[in-house]
Amino acid sequence: MEKKAESPNIPDKKTKYDVIIIGAGPAGYTAGIYCSRAGYDTLILSGILPGGQLVNTTEVENYPGFENGIMGPDLMITMRNQTKRMGATIIDDEVVNVDFRRKPFMVLTASEEYEAQAVIIATGANPRKLGIEGEKTFGGKGVSYCATCDGPFFRNQELIVVGGGDSAMEEATFLTKFASTVHLVHRRDELRASKVMQERAFDNSKIKFHLSAEVDEIKGNEKVQQVVLSNKKTNEKETMEVGGVFVAIGHEPNTKLFVNQIDMDENGYIVLKENTKTNIPGVFAAGDVHDHRYRQAVTAAGFGCMAAIDVDKYLTDSKQ
Ligand code: NAP
Repeated sequence: MEKKAESPNIPDKKTKYDVIIIGAGPAGYTAGIYCSRAGYDTLILSGILPGGQLVNTTEVENYPGFENGIMGPDLMITMRNQTKRMGATIIDDEVVNVDFRRKPFMVLTASEEYEAQAVIIATGANPRKLGIEGEKTFGGKGVSYCATCDGPFFRNQELIVVGGGDSAMEEATFLTKFASTVHLVHRRDELRASKVMQERAFDNSKIKFHLSAEVDEIKGNEKVQQVVLSNKKTNEKETMEVGGVFVAIGHEPNTKLFVNQIDMDENGYIVLKENTKTNIPGVFAAGDVHDHRYRQAVTAAGFGCMAAIDVDKYLTDSKQ
């Protein structure tokens, strides 16, 4: 099926743009708003499921401007409509290849070849999933991948954090502000986290460690109510009453498309040279695709704004 461009006044078959933004989460939409308002002919290739991680979220309480909070999918529809109103073209198609070795840059979908003078990569990252029964069913109903986002919803409850890395230690420690007890479940008897993060978690009396253990299943009715834990050494199983499960087993940046063209670190995150510049002049990155520290909608939006301002400077300088 042919993908239709959504834009106020730009014809469907247009393939040459000033700026192409790959990805339509908070970073991509914000970059689109800024690039369009600056007068650049801007295309957003949003992928098949636009909106990024927030479309799988329920209530968002920490995005400024929404006094009473907003549902994640509603926030993303609002951002999309605002981006379109500013004049950006949005096409819900998936990028299958890029060529940043030639100018203008080439961005290919299965059905079209697009060209642009500048590209912003805003493809985000996905939290790794456990792949166990109940994880998908209770996503947003007690299963979370972000303690900063969802911790305050779980006051005085018993919670599980899965993982043994720095993220798991950090999330478990943060969650003790709200939870009555945090059970940290890790699959080996040795933690991966740095010593200082481990010690901080060990020193916190609200965190109980379950090492060499795995969550086999998440159960509940409307929301999470129980998990089944298994001890990998004894094979014993235990059912635990909990209000929430925080999965902190790492993230995977969506960067496969850019291998061998854009510099990345050992975990696949894009490495920025300066501000939002990648190693290729004219190609910029914004949001969770390079940021493994903050990972918030508002910080992604901030990076989108920064990338658009950097694009403006690059295109202005290129003309002189
Ligand atoms: P990570 O270091 O890759 O750790 C992932 C953890 O999840 C590991 O303990 C791993 O177990 C476990 N795991 C992976 N897949 C699993 C599965 N299917 N089932 C159960 N457990 C699973 O990821 P991260 O903690 O998100 O950290 C990513 C990077 O960010 C690291 O370099 C970290 O140092 C950094 N970081 C730094 C800070 C800080 O300094 N404040 C905070 C957060 C993150 P195994 O150990 O058995 O492999």
